[in-house]
Amino acid sequence: MLKQLKNFMLSGLIAAMLALIAFTPLASSAYANQSPWLMGRTAFRLSGGNPGTAVSHPAQFTAVNALIWPLSGSSAPDTDRISSPFGPRWQASQNRYDYHPGLDIAAPQGTPVYAVADGIVTKRGWLSTSSGLTVLVYHPSLNLYSAYLHLSATAVNVNDTVTQGQVIGEVGNTGTTEFMHLHFEIRLSASSYPTSTRNPLGYLPRPDLTAPTIAITNLQSDPVYSPTVSLLITATRAELDVNQIRVRLYDRASGALLDNQFVDFNQRLHTGDDTLDKDGIQLRPSHFSTATQTYQLTANFYNLSGQDAFTVTAEVEDLAGHINTVTAVADDLTPPGQVTDLLALSRSDGSVELRWTAPGDSGFVSQAAAYDIRSSNEPINSFVWDINATPLSSPPAPIPGSGRQSWIIPGPFSEPVYFALRATDTEGNLSLLSNSARAQTRLFLPLIAK
Ligand SMILES: [Zn+2]
Repeated sequence: MLKQLKNFMLSGLIAAMLALIAFTPLASSAYANQSPWLMGRTAFRLSGGNPGTAVSHPAQFTAVNALIWPLSGSSAPDTDRISSPFGPRWQASQNRYDYHPGLDIAAPQGTPVYAVADGIVTKRGWLSTSSGLTVLVYHPSLNLYSAYLHLSATAVNVNDTVTQGQVIGEVGNTGTTEFMHLHFEIRLSASSYPTSTRNPLGYLPRPDLTAPTIAITNLQSDPVYSPTVSLLITATRAELDVNQIRVRLYDRASGALLDNQFVDFNQRLHTGDDTLDKDGIQLRPSHFSTATQTYQLTANFYNLSGQDAFTVTAEVEDLAGHINTVTAVADDLTPPGQVTDLLALSRSDGSVELRWTAPGDSGFVSQAAAYDIRSSNEPINSFVWDINATPLSSPPAPIPGSGRQSWIIPGPFSEPVYFALRATDTEGNLSLLSNSARAQTRLFLPLIAK
């Protein structure tokens, strides 16, 4: 408790309170319940953090390529009509996850669709059963393609030259769709799906002044497994351009970098493609909520390096380079394991040899920091340990957990003599008291067992 109080003070009481408020609802979320690694033993507890601070950015972000929006036909953003952003997506109606390679812009059937830049029509028709009626335009000056899917009608043919703002078709719901919308893509090559699509919000003109928000919702680890850092990213309609999510772990004591992981949506790095998991990172997007006008994404980094107390820094960066950062401290709350096989052997020179299996920093994993070994003339229980047992000077340093360790203590001892030990880790977690071992001769079984 003292450690937690200290951390609260370090990170600021207000920040800690905000963090607690922010984290409480997520602990019982459906996602948390579905995640097997979140159901394991809690060895770390979030003891600090803040809900993220917006980075103000003086310049309005404007796409360099000077495209126009395909439905507004101008630089006026259609962000108000985006029903699915680029990137990880949860399709509520189909109860499945996919990686959405474009923007869905809702509009009534027959709404004109404009070429976003000068170009040449390279495909017209059904590219697949899911694409529906599609027009693909190559833009030589930009060396990229724009794709317009689910059209109800087209106004161009293959090899037609089109100019920016020219009507190329009409909004529909052909192919795999459930409502009238344009699915718009920017592709680096003609047959680009899925690796060459880029977030159209990186090309279309729009104001972008802040960053999506980020919160650390859970820090957790099992002594045997790796730490998990769970993040909640929230983006408003104006911030549907989440691009990178980064996590860095630092050793609590030394500040050394323990791990550095990230996802990049545009580059499709560590993003999981059409599955939830990839490279130790699980992305769980929610569908865009028309009620809250936000898009939320849970990112679980569950294969991080480090099994001790750590500091975590998490960042979200949008396409415009705006960054929000959040930090938190994870305490190691797991003590070294309880020694249950302590053995005390009397030696002919009057000394006693203790043997036991070494505990680790957490349980029997890693390495404990120090031993407290005591002796007494009566069996050692917790009461005797506290009141009557004598601490032995200069106990050995712990060896790595699960190793067999021994220590010879010079005599003489007045019989009967008992020994017990406890171990601490670097965070001061104290193990349970070991078994009480009575010294016995090596050569003869004791005639009388007390
Ligand atoms: Zn779509």
